[in-house]
Amino acid sequence: MNVAVIGAGWAGLAAAFRLKNAGAHVTVFEASGAPGGRARGVSDLRLGTIDNGQHLMLGAYTECLALIRQLSPQRPDTELLTRLPLTLESADGSFRLRAPRLIAPLNLLWALSFMRGLTIADRISALRMSIALRRKAWRALPDQSVHALLSQHNQSDALIRKIWEPLCLAALNTPIRQACAQLFLNVVRDGLGGSSIASDLIVPRVDLSSLWPAVAAQQVTTRYHHIVRNLQPQLDGVRVDGVLFDACILAVPPYAVQRVLAECLKANDPTALALQQSLQAFSYRSIATLTLQLKEPWSLPVPLMMLDEDAASLQVGQWVFSRANCRDQVTVVVSDSPDLLKVDRDALIDAVATQIRSQCLKHPKATGTLPAVIHHRLIVEKRATFEACPGLRRPATQTMWPGLLLAGDWTDTGYPAVLEGAVRSGLHAAETLLKQQD
Ligand SMILES: Cc1cc2nc3c(=O)[nH]c(=O)nc-3n(C[C@H](O)[C@H](O)[C@H](O)COP(=O)(O)OP(=O)(O)OC[C@H]3O[C@@H](n4cnc5c(N)ncnc54)[C@H](O)[C@@H]3O)c2cc1C
Repeated sequence: MNVAVIGAGWAGLAAAFRLKNAGAHVTVFEASGAPGGRARGVSDLRLGTIDNGQHLMLGAYTECLALIRQLSPQRPDTELLTRLPLTLESADGSFRLRAPRLIAPLNLLWALSFMRGLTIADRISALRMSIALRRKAWRALPDQSVHALLSQHNQSDALIRKIWEPLCLAALNTPIRQACAQLFLNVVRDGLGGSSIASDLIVPRVDLSSLWPAVAAQQVTTRYHHIVRNLQPQLDGVRVDGVLFDACILAVPPYAVQRVLAECLKANDPTALALQQSLQAFSYRSIATLTLQLKEPWSLPVPLMMLDEDAASLQVGQWVFSRANCRDQVTVVVSDSPDLLKVDRDALIDAVATQIRSQCLKHPKATGTLPAVIHHRLIVEKRATFEACPGLRRPATQTMWPGLLLAGDWTDTGYPAVLEGAVRSGLHAAETLLKQQD
């Protein structure tokens, strides 16, 4: 079988690798010059290879982790990934939540009972909510927002500000009033309701392209710098810019699907119209990542820490990470960011360095003051994720055209826009295609 995969992101490459292992001849078309899509390594003259955005995985990301192992069997996990028991800690040490590696629900009960920085009443209220949600199999009300879910369970302002809001932004990149409660609960369910290591936080130790996408891309035919303009499903396959393939997996974001399928979507057909409408319904949110090169090596008390923000003084950092293998670099993440590219750059770097410095110095295990920042790189991904709002109708893998399948973090994965959703969607598209051929 001769298959075209459009898009060399995590979804497209997962599909391509699965199909290649099943004996298909796979050609991947990628608009840019490198594999990885929205999770990729970027070369910087002064900083070396960094990532386009700091990514965090969970122990529950089983398909991502399996791919990484399969593609680099000779490299131990510890060379590629840092694995930590779930720890959310503020940079100043005033708040801490730790989940020990215990089976669910003991991990969650322990974590919420022994949180630092919240009153006993708040801890009991968080515990009550998690027990109630677990009993309801982590089901939210239809079309409920995260904010409505938290209000329904009487979560205080302090609980929302210290735990739920940062967790929701980190997982869904969508503010709690707009974020879909069910998608949020799906992440909590798989992270905290599963095995004892499902809640582990996993930080890549190598750049995101080298982690596995570059290795997978080498095993199939890859055409970089090829922007696919037109797909035409036929009775005997799919034409990709005029060339006939037996089948095609379209693993590009919704706005790109609209362009590539423009002609087919014009068809006066209710199914085509429904797909067109669901593609148009997506809106997007940005994430900014600031990598700081420090004058000397320095490390945080914990590899990743939460920052208190103060947008008015440009102290916009939400999370700070020590970069594994680069002890003289830290990355700062701003989810759902304002347009930081328009802000005076020197003022921004000064403000964020002051933010980290002042908050980290208060931590009981402070390891000295943040050294001077000598270089930096700011990357703003304007369409980092789709807005994970309630009621969004996400298209399925199969389309009205038998040889054409969809993949990507935005398809109906049950997850928000995350790596695991992307990989699962790619594997699902490949499996669906293989079953069709049986
Ligand atoms: C800054 C940032 C931080 C993030 N943080 C996290 C995190 O901590 N944890 C997490 O799990 N997820 C995170 N995500 C989300 C995660 O990166 C995505 O869910 C995932 O990478 C999506 O993969 P994908 O394959 O579905 O899509 P994409 O990565 O968008 O891949 C689509 C590919 O298709 C190509 N393409 C588009 N149009 C065409 C065309 N016409 N012809 C050929 N090629 C085309 C694109 O160039 C791209 O390479 C983050 C994302 C960003 C941007």
